[in-house]
Amino acid sequence: MKERSRNPATKKIARERIEILFDQAKRAFGAHPERSNRYVELARRIAMRQRIRIDREYRRQFCHHCYTFLVPGKNMRVRVHRSSVVVTCHACNKKTRYRVVRPLVQST
Ligand SMILES: [Zn+2]
Repeated sequence: MKERSRNPATKKIARERIEILFDQAKRAFGAHPERSNRYVELARRIAMRQRIRIDREYRRQFCHHCYTFLVPGKNMRVRVHRSSVVVTCHACNKKTRYRVVRPLVQST
C-alpha cells in the first residue's frame, strides 16, 4: 500500500480542492448539470482519501443518497418540519433531514 502523506498541509490542500470543486459545480449547473454531479463525486473522493469532512456549507449542497448536486428551487425542495430542515432530492426523491441546532437569529 502506498504511503500516505504525513504532511499536515495535505489536508489543507484537499479542503481547498473541495472548495474549488463545489464552486465549479455551482457554475456548471446551469449548462451542464451532469458535470456538477461529477464535481461532487471528485470532491467526495478527495475527502475520503484524506479522511476529512466536507464543510457543512458544502455538505448540504448534494444529495446524500445519490450524490447529485442540489440547487434550491431547481432539483430540490426545502421544507421545515418539526425543527428540522427536510431536503427532498428530485433525482432520487429521497429526503435528508438536518437538525436545526440553534434557533435562527432574527434579523431586523
Ligand atoms: Zn438524491
